[in-house]
Amino acid sequence: MLKIRDLNVGVEDKEILKSLSFEVPAGKVCAVMGPNGSGKSTLANVLAGHNTYQVRQGTVQYQNECLLSLEPHERAQKGLFVAFQNPVAIPGINNLVFMKTIYNAKRKRMGLDPMDVSDFMDLVTEKSKLVGLDQSFWERSVNDDFSGGEKKRNDILQMLLLEPKFMVLDETDSGLDIDAMKLVANAINSLRSSESSSLIITHYRRLLDYVKPDIVYVLAEGRIIDSGDMTMVDKLEAEGYQWIYQDA
Ligand code: ADP
Ligand code: MG
Repeated sequence: MLKIRDLNVGVEDKEILKSLSFEVPAGKVCAVMGPNGSGKSTLANVLAGHNTYQVRQGTVQYQNECLLSLEPHERAQKGLFVAFQNPVAIPGINNLVFMKTIYNAKRKRMGLDPMDVSDFMDLVTEKSKLVGLDQSFWERSVNDDFSGGEKKRNDILQMLLLEPKFMVLDETDSGLDIDAMKLVANAINSLRSSESSSLIITHYRRLLDYVKPDIVYVLAEGRIIDSGDMTMVDKLEAEGYQWIYQDA
């Protein structure tokens, strides 16, 4: 599904990702863990196509296509969804209109007409319940003055509507209470299929206990330095990240 080879990314004279290589197979959920500042969010931004980050070397293959040559909206059209560590507020853009627009953009891409308004309202009602956001959030501007946890829930709502093929969640579990964490886990699990994959960036095992990732990657100083199964999470929980520097 996703194959990253020898990726070097920087901003001006700062090198952030250094010879980063790893894969996310189809149908798999992969976790990425690593110390603060190791480049996890940079990776999420590069996958989304954020133009601040300069790709200096390497390739990113997404479903046998060169992801880096696609515009951000083309990546989204091809099923890529990125929930950013700090979801942006869009004052003046009504949340419900936004959801309807992205949903119908996906339908258009699939050759379908926009969804009937009352059917769409039923769909949003159903999905909003799953993330615990009531109708008052539909009438507000996207993420504007939402609490941290509400922004994360709103991201998951968009994800549930779009049913993406490849999900990148950058610390979507941070700042969430236990109930909200379970909602996020249920959402990820409900979208799991043999044709979809996800990359979950997190610092905590709680979400991973619910999601049970197939592969856990450890990202440090801009590269993958280790990988394993859930026992890797136990190791990180017990020992922190100091072993990385001792082994180096
Ligand atoms: P993580 O998400 O793993 O905590 P980030 O990817 O956010 O790490 O950041 C990795 C490093 O790159 C940090 O040292 C950060 O300060 C730096 N960095 C990220 N974005 C920028 C930017 N736009 N300009 C300059 N430095 C940046
Ligand atoms: Mg980050």
